[in-house]
Amino acid sequence: MTTATLTIDLTALQDNWRALDAQTDVETAAVVKADAYGLGLEPAACALAKAGARQFFVAVAEEGVRLRHILGEGPAISVFAGHMAGDTDKIRDAHLTPMLNSVEQITRHFETLPGHAFGLQLDTGMNRLGLEDAEWRAIRAIACAQGPALVMSHLACADDPGHEMNSRQLRNFISMTQDIEAPLSLSATGGVLMGADYHFDLTRPGIGLYGGLPYIDAHPVVTLDLPVIQIRDVEPGETVGYSGTWTAVRPSRIATVSGGYADGLIRYMGAKACMHAGDVAVPLAGRVSMDLIGVDVTDLDHAPESLQLIGRHQSVDTVAGFADTIGYEILTSLGARYTRVYR
Ligand SMILES: *Cc1c(COP(=O)(O)O)cnc(C)c1O
Repeated sequence: MTTATLTIDLTALQDNWRALDAQTDVETAAVVKADAYGLGLEPAACALAKAGARQFFVAVAEEGVRLRHILGEGPAISVFAGHMAGDTDKIRDAHLTPMLNSVEQITRHFETLPGHAFGLQLDTGMNRLGLEDAEWRAIRAIACAQGPALVMSHLACADDPGHEMNSRQLRNFISMTQDIEAPLSLSATGGVLMGADYHFDLTRPGIGLYGGLPYIDAHPVVTLDLPVIQIRDVEPGETVGYSGTWTAVRPSRIATVSGGYADGLIRYMGAKACMHAGDVAVPLAGRVSMDLIGVDVTDLDHAPESLQLIGRHQSVDTVAGFADTIGYEILTSLGARYTRVYR
């Protein structure tokens, strides 16, 4: 086997959903957009449904159609992008619930699919998707008369519980949803962790299910092992990899592993990153190339068959730190070439 092995622990995924669900007294949905954050929509969604999730969120209608085929009728599937022009057939045929975010979308939905389930998105300060206070006040009565399945908003700074934006958005959401009959939802993973004030009727965790921050107690879901293709000795003064950015300062052994930026291993992580051989950390040597990475294994007393990038010793967020990014980007970049093993 020369492709890296991505192992996805579906039991850990289910444990994370149950643990986040247990943090609240309200219903917990599962966000499975972007192919379940890169881990595979079908296995992830089936595992989450088995764990008890009855409401799923995707980013766009196409993902919802795919998810409906996977889950069958029963679970609710909501679409953050709302009701886009051209999505009407998909929304109707796959029984998707669009989270309408503008007057234009509301008009489109009521005209093309009267009586079909929908939700409403309010902007409480993030300025990304949703109705602003003034337009909401103008159409609130008309929209609510049609019985929205959910009225939701999204927090911009929930990864930082102390940020003043959180309480400001909470106040705005409460004020905008006064006397509304529909179920309410404000929180993703970060908001779940901020306590009951933020829970309302439904929470929408994503990243925490997949083992990422800000859910610090998450069970790790992902392991990534890269097979060693070749090991060589290099003399002091010799360089490794493109542009010769790494120079041996002692007689060294370099393992070349299978995996590179074409597999979502971000080139920028370069010299800061390490992998593990068992419990021993081994630093990267030279640039990440498209399909290969050099690793300095001089300090090992054996020739490893594979090296681990993500796993017991290094979380998704540790690896994100090497590349100056966030766990979300590491997960959703995980490559299509990996041999995926679901446990
Ligand atoms: C992605 C997303 C979520 C899930 O967020 P996490 O931080 O991954 O838990 C919830 N709601 C909306 C609107 C989103 O876009």
